[in-house]
This record gives sequence, C-alpha cells and structure tokens, in this order.
Amino acid sequence: MAVGVDAAREALRRGVAEAIVLSHDAGERARDRLVMLAGHKGVPVYEKTAAVWMSKGSVYAGRNIIRAKQIVLCLDRFLPALGKLDRRIYHLQTFLALTEKLAPEALGKIFPDGHLMVWDTDLIYQYFRVAEGGRLLVGGGDLFQTYAKTTKDLQGPFRKLYRYLSEKFPGHRLAFEYLWPGFLGASPDLLPIAEEDPRAAGTYYVAGATGLPWAAALGRYLAEKAVSSRSDLDPYFTSGREFPWPAGLRRILGTRLSFALSHGRAKLV
Ligand SMILES: Cc1cc2nc3c(=O)[nH]c(=O)nc-3n(C[C@H](O)[C@H](O)[C@H](O)COP(=O)(O)OP(=O)(O)OC[C@H]3O[C@@H](n4cnc5c(N)ncnc54)[C@H](O)[C@@H]3O)c2cc1C
Repeated sequence: MAVGVDAAREALRRGVAEAIVLSHDAGERARDRLVMLAGHKGVPVYEKTAAVWMSKGSVYAGRNIIRAKQIVLCLDRFLPALGKLDRRIYHLQTFLALTEKLAPEALGKIFPDGHLMVWDTDLIYQYFRVAEGGRLLVGGGDLFQTYAKTTKDLQGPFRKLYRYLSEKFPGHRLAFEYLWPGFLGASPDLLPIAEEDPRAAGTYYVAGATGLPWAAALGRYLAEKAVSSRSDLDPYFTSGREFPWPAGLRRILGTRLSFALSHGRAKLV
C-alpha cells in the first residue's frame, strides 16, 4: 500500500503495491501516469480520498479500510495530521506568480542565450523560468511570511517579487496575472525525515522534503527500504538525529520562533 505519487510509482515498478491512496491535488500528469500503470497491474487506486486515521497495518480512508503489510506515507507537511512527527515537522510559506503572456521578442531580451531556469543565492531565494504560453514563472519568499500560520498577507510578498523582476529587467513592464501562496514541509534542520516508524514496523514515512528532487529520491529510498531493507542513508534521515535545537525549545518559544531559529542555525552556523 502506498500514499503519495513517488512512493506509489516505485512500489508499482517493483510490483509490491497492493493499493494506492491519492489525494485530490497529487500532480495531474504524475497521477494520470500512475493510475494508468496501476490499471495495467490490477492495483486499485483510491483517488480524492483522504487518509483520516491509521494504525499498524491499516489506513482508514473515507469508507475504505486498507490493510497492508507495508504502508508508505508521503504526506510532507501533512504528516503530523496523522499523528506522526508533530514536533519535528512544520511548514514554510513560499509564493509563485505568472506574468502575462510575453511576446517572443520580450522573452528573447530576457533570455538572450536561450531559455534558462534561473535560481539566485539569496537566503530566501528567487527563481524564474519561461512557462507554457510564453509567461514568466517567478517564485520566491518573504522572511516575514515564511513562518506564517496561514496565508494572509499576499501583497507584501508579491510586491517583493514584482520589485525583484523590475530591478532585474528594468526595460520591461512585467505584470502578474496569477499569484499563488503555498506551504511546504520542513524539519528543524531543513533536511528531510524519512524512516520506518520506530513505533510501527512496516509503516514508512517521508516529510519535510523541501523540494521535488528530494521528494522523488526519498520516495524511491523508502520503497527500496520497504522492499529490500535498504538502510545506508538512515543516519541522515532519521527523526532521532541531532537537530540544531532541542525539541523542548518549541514549548518555550513557540513553533514559529523555534523553527526560525533552528533554520537560521542550520543555514548560517
Ligand atoms: C509555492 C511552492 C513552490 C514550490 N516550488 C518548488 C520548485 O520550484 N522546485 C522544487 O523542487 N520544489 C518546489 N516546492 C516544494 C515542493 O513542492 C515540495 O517539497 C514537494 O512537493 C514535496 O513533495 P512530497 O511528495 O513529499 O509532498 P507533496 O507534493 O506535498 O504531496 C503530499 C500529498 O499528500 C496529500 N495528503 C495530505 N494529507 C493527506 C491525507 N490525509 N490523505 C491522503 N493524501 C494526503 C496532499 O494533498 C499532497 O497531494 C514548492 C512548494 C510550494 C508550496
């Protein structure tokens, strides 16, 4: 049984998935391919189904109870909602924007040597690339909004992104047409947690991936762990590793401040 696209794909590839639970917003293309693959192998897929509770060997999802010897949960920042790692996983807020469609000449001036994916080195970094339809896709964050509990202030972060583009490309008037805030999961040291649940053998989870390459690699690692007991990277991904600050700090300083301090220490020290 697998929850999460990457774990599910790897489990299918290896012929060990018995059932797959997917939430409504699993990436569309990845989901379509997964559903097709699962169909070929006769593996049931429960789509748009939230797993609401789990115990060893069982996941309760809507009206379905799925039982399996091995369960892989790839829920990122949502993992604490199922009672796992609630002291170790919080979220970071980040923002995405799409400009209006740009004329090929304008894109040619922004990327004179061909379309590139650009990522800068600021502490809260910015990145941009050309997206479908000739729009510029721009992402970035704002320190004051990074640890926000909910998405409230959109103006500040998007003004920052707009200023960034105006400074980089002063000759262009780039207007945003779409804006999205979003949360991604993070551990106190910004490295992922991926392990077999120390309290429930056969249940594996990954959270705090902080990026799609990590997420894909960890889905694979957990599948290999479940299938062939791979363990060489366990010391890096265990929730039992030493974190920059003790977990108890959270009770004193609160979640946001303790995670912000931990991240500062992990990045700067
Ligand atoms: C705005 C934004 C921009 C980003 N840009 C980039 C980027 O440019 N490059 C990059 O590498 N990374 C980027 N990231 C980070 C990246 O999206 C995440 O690190 C990555 O998606 C984590 O992958 P995952 O598979 O572990 O979890 P997710 O992709 O978060 O998938 C977890 C899934 O679990 C589902 N789920 C949650 N609870 C349940 C439940 N109870 N039952 C069933 N399903 C459940 C969720 O709905 C979700 O579909 C960005 C994130 C955000 C928010």
